[in-house]
Amino acid sequence: MKKDPLVTDTADQLYINGHIWTADASHPFVEALAVKGDRILAVGSHTDLNQFKNASTKVIDLKGKLMMPGFNDGHVHFLSGSLGLTVVDLVEAKTMQEAIQMIADYAKKHPELPWITGGGWQYSLFPGGLPTKQMLDSIIPDRPVYLKAYDGHSGWANSKALSIAGITKETTFKGFGELVKDKNGEPTGAFKESATGLVTRFVPGPNKAAKFNALLTGLKYAATLGITSIQNASGSREEYDLYDSLLRTDQLTVRTSIAFSAGRGLNEKDIIGWKSIRSKNKNPKWLKTTAVKFLLDGVIESHTAVMIDPYSDLLQLDSIYRGQYAIPIDQYEKWVNRLDQEGFQIYTHAIGDASVRSVLNAYEKAMTANGQQNKRHRIEHIEMTTTVDIERFNKLGVLPSMQPIHADPGTIDVWSKAVGEQRLPLSFPWASFLQNKTKLVFGSDWPACISLNPIRGIHNAVNRMTTDGKPVGGWIPTQKISLQDALYAYTAGAAYGSFDEQEKGQLKKGYLADFIVLSQDLFKIKPEDIYKTQVELTVVGGKKVYSTGLYE
Ligand SMILES: [Zn+2]
Repeated sequence: MKKDPLVTDTADQLYINGHIWTADASHPFVEALAVKGDRILAVGSHTDLNQFKNASTKVIDLKGKLMMPGFNDGHVHFLSGSLGLTVVDLVEAKTMQEAIQMIADYAKKHPELPWITGGGWQYSLFPGGLPTKQMLDSIIPDRPVYLKAYDGHSGWANSKALSIAGITKETTFKGFGELVKDKNGEPTGAFKESATGLVTRFVPGPNKAAKFNALLTGLKYAATLGITSIQNASGSREEYDLYDSLLRTDQLTVRTSIAFSAGRGLNEKDIIGWKSIRSKNKNPKWLKTTAVKFLLDGVIESHTAVMIDPYSDLLQLDSIYRGQYAIPIDQYEKWVNRLDQEGFQIYTHAIGDASVRSVLNAYEKAMTANGQQNKRHRIEHIEMTTTVDIERFNKLGVLPSMQPIHADPGTIDVWSKAVGEQRLPLSFPWASFLQNKTKLVFGSDWPACISLNPIRGIHNAVNRMTTDGKPVGGWIPTQKISLQDALYAYTAGAAYGSFDEQEKGQLKKGYLADFIVLSQDLFKIKPEDIYKTQVELTVVGGKKVYSTGLYE
């Protein structure tokens, strides 16, 4: 094609010969993409884009591989995940014996550590769903050990840690959660929800330098997984400052947004502080803080999520038990109204169907009082809800922020028993939301999950099967979604969830040059093989942040 005389722009890089999925419905697939600076100059056919080439343009042959927008993790706790990369990690443990061996190995490798910490254990590893102190005492009697469950909602301590924390038969806990005791009244070493604080306040925390270095490790890891944006579902001024130092020293390689954590103790001073940080968001395409996050209930596995009807596996013991709220509803509604007034986007963790309903009620009241327009308040997780409430999401413009990796059928056993047969059809109801024309925001919830890897989440969303193909046909197959819908929720949908859809999540002229190249073409392989896909190239703002060396 002859050079268009009006085209004065030249590309810094020209990617050719690709199968490029743009997430742009008007032309979902193209073969070439041109980059100038940190933006996309054009997408189209090789011939169309040749006009942007001159002697200094670097031409990269994609060899027919799949290129797509970089992943945007819509719900992550990136600092704690990154810190987790440096402590005991039990995520890969498949049996109790394996978990115990991993802890013993780690302790042996780190004789210098006064405390053994970390986590990632699954409830299903242990008889009855919870671990005990004796399991740890047999391998580490002389140093304190404290390990979080994979979802962060429960803890596991050895006898040494209990003794440092002064926890005995006489200790009682009143509040959200439980200090688990055996039939003789002895603490078992297991803790639920806020009761974990009985031990965690004695565990020495990492200092600022350790956090900064952990984030650098985390950013490198994210790049290998093709993650180019993250939305932190928890945060503080301290965390903001850490990311800000990364940005100022040119070391931030993942675009970051932060939701400040709000709890029972929330007060007007917090809101003033958050507003002042928000007003400092000078470079929002890299770092911004526009949201506040609440936690309204717990999780289904430990019966702390709030349900409309009682827990199925507790019916014989306590027929009316439905879970517990983390904040009294009237207080929660009051703060939702205040923050909505102040223009904050609100995230609320709600897992049980009753809790999801309470959040919708609170958002609806606030928006009725303060005005409806474009608030994009979100509900995080929504593992169970009802048909009536699914319809309200679309009506109110509330976004479901969900983590398909949580519905790993390999770990869902304890969960399914608690929910019971009758409620199962609306478990993790991604397809129902899409049928109601509601945009999905996908993320990982890392480290409260088995992996940060978006590919694993997409595998679950499409198959609802484990990586070894179980159960055949998928777990509750009516809630499976298409590959394109799953990818969309992890790119353009997630960008919408942070008000960034005008410059992120699609490969389109003028958008940020954040994209990845994958080892196999997701659109051409069997869906059961999605999990085998690896990232081969990650580019953020036109700069390569990870590469296997195939596209130099
Ligand atoms: Zn979370």
